[in-house]
Amino acid sequence: MGLWPLDPVELAQSLIRCESVTPIDGGALAALEGWLQPMGFTTERMPFQEQDTPDVDNLFARIGSNNAGQHLCFAGHTDVVPVGDSSEWRDPPFAATIHDGVLYGRGAVDMKGAIAAFVAASAAYLNDINKEPKGAISLLITGDEEGPSINGTKKMLKVLGERGERFDACIVGEPTNPLQMGEMIKIGRRGSLNAVLSVKGVQGHVAYPERADNPIHGILPLLHALTDTPLDAGHPHFPGSSLQLTSVDVGNTTTNLIPAKVEARFNVRFNANFDGAALEKELKRRLDAVGRPYELSVSVSGESFVTEPGQLTEIVAKAVQTVSGSRPEFSTSGGTSDARFIKDYCPVVELGLISATAHKVDEHVATQDIRDLAETYRLILHAFFEG
Ligand SMILES: [Zn+2]
Repeated sequence: MGLWPLDPVELAQSLIRCESVTPIDGGALAALEGWLQPMGFTTERMPFQEQDTPDVDNLFARIGSNNAGQHLCFAGHTDVVPVGDSSEWRDPPFAATIHDGVLYGRGAVDMKGAIAAFVAASAAYLNDINKEPKGAISLLITGDEEGPSINGTKKMLKVLGERGERFDACIVGEPTNPLQMGEMIKIGRRGSLNAVLSVKGVQGHVAYPERADNPIHGILPLLHALTDTPLDAGHPHFPGSSLQLTSVDVGNTTTNLIPAKVEARFNVRFNANFDGAALEKELKRRLDAVGRPYELSVSVSGESFVTEPGQLTEIVAKAVQTVSGSRPEFSTSGGTSDARFIKDYCPVVELGLISATAHKVDEHVATQDIRDLAETYRLILHAFFEG
C-alpha cells in the first residue's frame, strides 16, 4: 500500500453514480460501509422517520475509542439536489465522467467529493500511523441535508449524545471556497428568520376613501420602520444583519377597490448580535413604535453561531495553507448547513471544495482539488491527534 490506500477520485466517482436525490439513498451509504468496515470502522445505520416527512437513512461510523482521547468527527451529506433537465448536461448527471482532469456529476462538489476525501484521508492516516488512533475518528453522514433536514444530522446527534458519544471537534465538508481552493473556511453561519407582517383595513370604493381604511397606506410606515435603520453595525466575524422584504401582496386585481388586508413577507439573515428571540423583540419594538395595529408571525429556521478562532481553526487553516499555499479567510457567509446543529455539541469548522457549480447543471470539480482536499484532511488528522 502506498500513501493513499484508497483513491479519493475513484471513491467520488462511485458515490456520484449512486442516484441519491433526497430522500433516496441510491446505495451511497452501503458504498461508504464497504470502504469503512475493512478499515476497522464500526458502522451503524440510523434511519429516522417523522410524520409528513420522508423516511431517511443515515450512517454513523467510528474507529477508535471515545475514552482514549479526543474525538474528531467528519460530517456531511450523501444526498443531492435534483438534476433539473438532464438533457442540458454535457454527460448524464450520474455518469461521473472525467474530461481533461475535471469530474462532472451531480454532487461532485456538494458534497460527494468531500465525503470521498474524508474516507481516503482516514485510510491514509490510519496507514500512516499503522495502529488505532489516539482517540476516535468518526463520519456522521446524513441523507437529509438538501431536504427538510428533519430526519438527519439533528436526530443523529441527539441519539448519539444520549448514548454518551462525545465529540471534541467537527469538520463539515460543505463546499466553502468561492472560486479557488485555499480561499475560505467557514467558522460560523448567520441565522435566518422568516416573517409575515399583515395589516387589516376596511375594504371600500376608491372614490369614497373616507368610508374605507386603506391597509396598504397603513403598512408603509411599518415597512419603513423595519428597513430605514440597519439592524446593527456588524460583528467581528459577521457583516451587519440584513432584512430583505420578499413580497408585499394584497391579491387585488381591480383598480377601484381599496383592499381589506395586506401581507408582507421578509427574511432576516442575522449575525451573532442576536438570537432569534432577541431579533423578534427588536422587530416588534420597531413596529409598535409606529402605532398602527399589525400582526407579525415569525419562524426562526436557524440560529447564528460562530466558532471563535482557536485551536481547531488554527489546525484547519495551517493544513489548508500547507496544501494550497494560501491562508484561508475565516468566513460566516452563505446559507445554512448542518453545522447549525453540530455547534451545540462541539466546535465546528467547514472546509470543502469550490462552491461555484453547486446545485447547477454540469456541476464539476477538478480531480486535483479532490486530492488536495483529501491531503488537507489527512494533515488535519495528524495535527489533531499528534500535534
Ligand atoms: Zn451541501
